[in-house]
Amino acid sequence: MTIRLASELQLDSVVDGTGIRTVIWTQGCSHNCPGCHNPSTHDFSGGFSKDVDEIIDEINNLEGQTGITFSGGDPFFQPKECAVIAKAVHNANMDVWCYTGFKFEELLLMAEKNKDIMNFLKNIDVLVDGEFIMAKKSYNIKFRGSSNQRIIDVKQSLKKKKIIIALADDVDVDYNFGRCDKEGIYI
Ligand code: SF4
Repeated sequence: MTIRLASELQLDSVVDGTGIRTVIWTQGCSHNCPGCHNPSTHDFSGGFSKDVDEIIDEINNLEGQTGITFSGGDPFFQPKECAVIAKAVHNANMDVWCYTGFKFEELLLMAEKNKDIMNFLKNIDVLVDGEFIMAKKSYNIKFRGSSNQRIIDVKQSLKKKKIIIALADDVDVDYNFGRCDKEGIYI
């Protein structure tokens, strides 16, 4: 199985989720958000193909990383491949964040027809959802480009059948351990 990527794994990110993270930049996105910072990742035939097993090997050999973040592009255009990788990330005792231009509610609807979407969702800890909206762009929000995007605790949201926010903007983040400092917030 191969996945289409925009670049090789990027280590040591502190802006794509809590802690120190490795980012998987997937290739392909059709949301076309005006002002997108990564237009080179839109073309579904751009980037390059990489064997999923090779990526998992690289993940298993990582040191000093809190977790993996799927970004792009939009990872939900390759849910089957991403689900396999995300499962391996958890097996390696790291957590999974994912950025998507879809809203969580849209993904749930899509999942009714595509089991790979739900399989991927179930292997994500934190989802940052929604398109980038230039009019809502802000430098005062954590881990997002625009204030419409939400940082969602996927497991709790699926369990409680309503959206549970994982990380609010008024919460301090412990960057060393990738955890937050209030009850109910992402652990
Ligand atoms: S979803 Fe992300 S990658 Fe896709 S156009 Fe919007 S900002 Fe760009």
